[in-house]
Amino acid sequence: MPVSDARDLIIVGGGPAGYTAALYAARANLNPLVIEGVTFGGQLMITSDVENYPGYPEGVLGPAMMQDFRRQAERFGADFITDDVTAVDFSERPFRVEIGGDVYYARAVIVATGASARQLGLESERMLQGRGVSYCAVCDAAFFRSKNVVVVGGGDSAMEEAIFLTKFADKVTVVHRRDEFRASPIMLDRARANPRIEWITNAVVDEVLGDDGKVTAVRIRNLNTGEKTDLPTDGLFVAIGHDPNTKLFLDQLDHDEAGYLEVQPGSTETNIKGVFAAGDVADHTYRQAVTAAGTGAMAALDAERLLAAEEGHEATALAAPRAEAV
Ligand code: NAP
Repeated sequence: MPVSDARDLIIVGGGPAGYTAALYAARANLNPLVIEGVTFGGQLMITSDVENYPGYPEGVLGPAMMQDFRRQAERFGADFITDDVTAVDFSERPFRVEIGGDVYYARAVIVATGASARQLGLESERMLQGRGVSYCAVCDAAFFRSKNVVVVGGGDSAMEEAIFLTKFADKVTVVHRRDEFRASPIMLDRARANPRIEWITNAVVDEVLGDDGKVTAVRIRNLNTGEKTDLPTDGLFVAIGHDPNTKLFLDQLDHDEAGYLEVQPGSTETNIKGVFAAGDVADHTYRQAVTAAGTGAMAALDAERLLAAEEGHEATALAAPRAEAV
C-alpha cells in the first residue's frame, strides 16, 4: 500500500476488543482494517460456555460469540485480514503496520492483541504439546474421553477447565502450588462439588513424562516435603494465567513490568498520539470479554474524536448518542 493511500484506522487483533472497536469505527465511517491474527477470536475461542456476557441469558459458546462479534463489524463494512502483524513503526504518522513483506499505513491504530496462555516452561512440556499437553480444554477435552487428566493452576481458568474436562475424562486431578485458591468462590465450590475432581495442593509439576510421543505421567513435587511422585495421566492441561501479546510494541509503547500497555486513565490513549490500546493487552485487572468490548468501543471513539478534530469536524459516533437522546 502506498503511504498516500493510508487508511483512517487499522485495528490489530481480533478478540472482543478488536471486533467491538471495528464495529464502532465502521459505523463512524472510518473504514477500519482489522488485522485479526491467524488465531483470530482471541481467548474466547478457547472458552466453553460464556455465562457472564450480558445479552445471552442462556449463555453462549465463546467461538459462537466471537463469530457474532465479527459478523456485526463486517455488516457495517469493516475489512479483515486473517494474518499476524510482524512489525509496526509508530515513529511518525501515518503509522506503518507490516505483515511479512506487505505494508499498510493508517492515521490511527488500535492495539487489541490480547493476552496468551502462560506455560510452565518445561522442556518436556514443550516437547509434548499437542501430544497430551494442552492449554485449552475446550479444544482438546474430547481426546480424553474415559481417561485421566491433570490440570495445573488455582484460578478461575483452572476450575473452568477442570469442570469442563469432567464431561469427558473419568478423573481430573487439579495440582495447585498453594492450599489457598485464587479462583472465585462460586467456581471453586462448583469444582469441589464435582466427584470426578481430585486435588493435590502445595505441589508443582516438575516434569512431563512421555512414551512414544504421548504423555504418560507427570512428576509432582510436594513443596512442603520436596518429595517427588510420578502421577500416571493421559493429559496435562496448563491453566496458570496469561501474558499480554505486546512483544511487537514494547520498544515503542509505554508498558508495565509485566508487559501490559499503559493508557491514560479514563481513555485508551497510549504515549503515542494516534495509537490506542484496548482489551486485555492493557488490562491485567478485569480481563473480561465485556470489559474488553467496552474498551474496544472507547478506543474507536477516541480514534474517531482525534481524527475528526484533526480534520476540523465533530466526531459523528460521539455526536449520535446525544442526538438520539434528545
Ligand atoms: P489467575 O487468576 O492469574 O490464576 C493463575 C493460577 O495459576 C494461580 O492459581 C497461580 O497460582 C497459578 N500459577 C501461575 N503460575 C504458575 C506456575 N508457573 N506454576 C504453577 N502454578 C502457577 O489466571 P486465570 O485463572 O487464567 O484467571 C485470569 C482472570 O480471568 C481472572 O480474573 C479470572 O477471574 C478470569 N476468568 C474468569 C472465568 C469465568 O468467570 N468463567 C474463567 C476464566 C478466567 P497462585 O495463586 O499461587 O499465584
